[in-house]
Amino acid sequence: MNTIDQFRIKTNSQVNLGKIEADFRGDYDGEEAAIEVQEKLNQRLSELQALMYAENMHVLLVVLQAMDGGGKDGTIRHVMEAWNPQSCNVVGFKVPTAEELAHDYLWRIHKATPRKGQITVFNRSHYEDVLVVRVHNLVPRDVWSRRYNEINNFERGLANSGTTIVKFFLHIDKEEQLRRFGDRLYEPDKQWKISEADYTEREYWDDYQQAYEEALSKCSFSYAPWYVIPANQKWFRNLAISQILMETMESWKMKFPEPSVDLVEMRKKYHSEVAEEQGLAVAVEAVVNVKQAKGKKGKKKGKRKNKSS
Ligand code: ADP
Repeated sequence: MNTIDQFRIKTNSQVNLGKIEADFRGDYDGEEAAIEVQEKLNQRLSELQALMYAENMHVLLVVLQAMDGGGKDGTIRHVMEAWNPQSCNVVGFKVPTAEELAHDYLWRIHKATPRKGQITVFNRSHYEDVLVVRVHNLVPRDVWSRRYNEINNFERGLANSGTTIVKFFLHIDKEEQLRRFGDRLYEPDKQWKISEADYTEREYWDDYQQAYEEALSKCSFSYAPWYVIPANQKWFRNLAISQILMETMESWKMKFPEPSVDLVEMRKKYHSEVAEEQGLAVAVEAVVNVKQAKGKKGKKKGKRKNKSS
């Protein structure tokens, strides 16, 4: 079974996150064993992105969602590492601004979707509107419960217009979340991430898991699948995501576009330029040689003169 099938949520299935092992490591003994595989994946992802940019045909939207401490930042750092920043970007979605709230909830999302040849990674997304919004009753139930359909229609529209959508839920368990909060306390480069909300939101763990289960169950289709990625082990999470992105991009069967110019003509131009440059170089060399030869003669004459005087 390939990675795509292994972690993909089947359409209309009932997701139970409690039954999906967050600590899963596949056949790997540990991180060491995965390093070489990861390097190869990164190299291939880099080639695929170069092809995508050159073809300027495909559009890739990667959606990342996770509980606090789930590793969205680390995933972004790792995934983007393989890609040329020229044709990919990350958009984070925070608490909506007053202007965003004055529009429909998909307004800010649609504006941020990628164009042809481009990859955009969403750090949080429109799914917040059926997650945090649902858990904290930010809108009435009948409003958020309509949104699963609205989101499906929105994503289908994007897909029909040529966007490939890949959605990852980074699945950690509650113990791992606490471990990561602990790391934040004692590792100086992570302390800036600590927020009061970490602990208040943690109290809503079960509500969030339930909200995620419903979103994953209702919004996974072939045109915009959800993948639940075991993410307790950061190296396994990275490996699985890279593998899925690689398999997705490889399925496009991309090719470098045919050159838009007549190559025979361009080669002729190139070689005549080179010949001209070389001709000039030969001519310059000849002049230099003549000058040098004259100089030597002059010196010799001078020496003779000196001798005779
Ligand atoms: P992150 O955790 O993604 O690194 P922040 O710590 O700034 O970034 O958190 C962003 C916050 O914005 C989260 O608490 C998230 O739930 C909230 N948020 C995002 N989208 C919405 C939304 N549509 N409505 C309410 N809150 C939202």
